[in-house]
Amino acid sequence: MSDTTLQLPAPLPLTTFSEDEILFRDNIRQFADDKLRPLVKEMDEKGVFDHHLIQQFFQLGLMGIEIPEQYGGGGGKFFEAILAVEEMSRVDASAGVIVDVQNTLVNNALLRWANDEQKKRYLPRMASDTCGAYALSEAGSGSDAFALQTRAELKGNDYVLSGRKLWITNAKEAGTVDPAAGYRGITAFIVEKEFPGFTVGKKEDKLGIRASSTCELILEDCRVPKSNILGEAGKGYKIAIETLNEGRIGIGAQMAGLARGAWEYAAKYAQERKQFGKTIADFQGIQFQIAQMATEIEAARLMVYNAARMKDAGVPFVKEAAMTKLFCSQVAERVTSLAIEIYGGYGFTKDYPVEKYWRDSKIGKIYEGTSNMQLATIAKLVLGGK
Ligand SMILES: Cc1cc2nc3c(=O)[nH]c(=O)nc-3n(C[C@H](O)[C@H](O)[C@H](O)COP(=O)(O)OP(=O)(O)OC[C@H]3O[C@@H](n4cnc5c(N)ncnc54)[C@H](O)[C@@H]3O)c2cc1C
Repeated sequence: MSDTTLQLPAPLPLTTFSEDEILFRDNIRQFADDKLRPLVKEMDEKGVFDHHLIQQFFQLGLMGIEIPEQYGGGGGKFFEAILAVEEMSRVDASAGVIVDVQNTLVNNALLRWANDEQKKRYLPRMASDTCGAYALSEAGSGSDAFALQTRAELKGNDYVLSGRKLWITNAKEAGTVDPAAGYRGITAFIVEKEFPGFTVGKKEDKLGIRASSTCELILEDCRVPKSNILGEAGKGYKIAIETLNEGRIGIGAQMAGLARGAWEYAAKYAQERKQFGKTIADFQGIQFQIAQMATEIEAARLMVYNAARMKDAGVPFVKEAAMTKLFCSQVAERVTSLAIEIYGGYGFTKDYPVEKYWRDSKIGKIYEGTSNMQLATIAKLVLGGK
């Protein structure tokens, strides 16, 4: 090798964080432990997220992580949004998904597709006080995400939207902004809660992430100004798909975070609980379970970090995002299930925190594309489109 050969610096481990990233992560971790954890059980029981906590999310800068500073946001990277979702989900996956939907779906779509005027109008609100929701699914349109029935008809300067969106996360909390897809040559709209003809319908009573609201959105001749089209008319398909590609890394982070939260409880309990005159962590059978869980969580996190760094580096990441969501949701379900077993009978009760982690893990295989849909994407890409 000659002296003039250019060499790239040695690649850094994926778990190498910048000083800013460490500070950011540690702040969120502390907030989640101190302020969020004491409220988690009650929010889960009531199925309602504490409104003051959401205000604190805004104050901490968690709801506009990637929004440029000129609009009042944090001016951060996608990787930081992912760290926030992971850290919040370690304590509560409902908190994780509120932060996730806001940053990886709604803000992301606005940053990428909104025009300058829309950015000026909406980004400062998203960064400071307005919760967003991403409304694609309908009763008859889930995996087949574009079998949409909602209609958008142009009348003068407004589109008139009619239809019902189902399963919409953050719908109860959403302050003003809800992008909703139209039909055929699909178009995405920015819909404010105050627009005439818009109502939030039934709230679902769910197995897991109970504090995160999931509601129907009803559009009854809802008038949306033409200027509120997101991107171009007829380009909603691309917007919805590309937004979800990024969102899936967020769900991976949610699942990796909650798996770690459950693991921490299980590892601690194993070192306290005594049977046969020893702690159960003295038994090799339990040690091996805890080691297996830790290994799977490590693999899940590395997939999340790699996909997020790929996104920030501007290289294609669709396959990695699908693999990340698929794998992390599998790990989350396995790890949280084992955590219950390590707690024995106590783990099966609501007096201990692990059963909630298991219930919360289940959604990872369903929303933002079921596991089968992730496998379909991965198969298409690894088989070269055949
Ligand atoms: C708590 C929660 C929050 C949600 N939040 C949002 C949100 O914020 N915004 C939003 O737009 N949507 C949201 N959703 C909707 C979610 O994305 C859909 O539920 C999901 O995409 C699956 O659609 P579906 O429920 O209609 O199931 P279906 O599509 O009916 O799927 C049923 C089963 O059939 C399988 N299946 C379907 N087609 C195929 C195929 N071609 N090959 C193999 N298997 C197949 C699926 O994998 C699944 O196992 C949310 C859902 C829940 C439960």
